[in-house]
Amino acid sequence: MTTQESLNRLKEGNARFVADKLDGKLQNSSRRDSIVGGQAPYAIILGCADSRVVPELAFDTGLGELFVVRVAGNVANSSSIASIEYAVAHLGSKLIVVLGHQSCGAVTAAVAGGDNGYNLNHLLSHITPAIAASKEGAAVNDVTKKNAELTVGELISRSEIIRNAVEKGDVKVFHAYYNLDSGKVDFL
Ligand SMILES: [Zn+2]
Repeated sequence: MTTQESLNRLKEGNARFVADKLDGKLQNSSRRDSIVGGQAPYAIILGCADSRVVPELAFDTGLGELFVVRVAGNVANSSSIASIEYAVAHLGSKLIVVLGHQSCGAVTAAVAGGDNGYNLNHLLSHITPAIAASKEGAAVNDVTKKNAELTVGELISRSEIIRNAVEKGDVKVFHAYYNLDSGKVDFL
């Protein structure tokens, strides 16, 4: 599958999700049997941990189709980058989508600032550049879009594996925004 075919498949799956017409045919025992020997997910999604944003559902996919990395605020940290590197280097995925979403709690907390304890402070520090790059008083959803955009750059600049794959034209990286109300994913 080419990068464009992978992207089209995601968009078609999302259109089915929005229209309440989920296919779901790759979620059964025969699909399980067919992928026991290995996986070849056609896309990698870096998404938020938010329970309302489920990439496998939002793109109407089944087992073995998406390599999904989820962390609050869909940030590029060492662990999320390493996970993505594995899929790029070993699974042949052609597409990476950084998926931000409406009303993200992590972005809201980063914008609010303050001390949230060691672990959350560390995570939110990855969102700080998006706040700095946004207009003063920017809406959380706009900061979220900026965060997804900057995260694309982070994946490329901080990972030699991802950067090489992008430069060779083997992989493309997109950022996108999930609307909680409609379920629609906007590719930005
Ligand atoms: Zn979120």
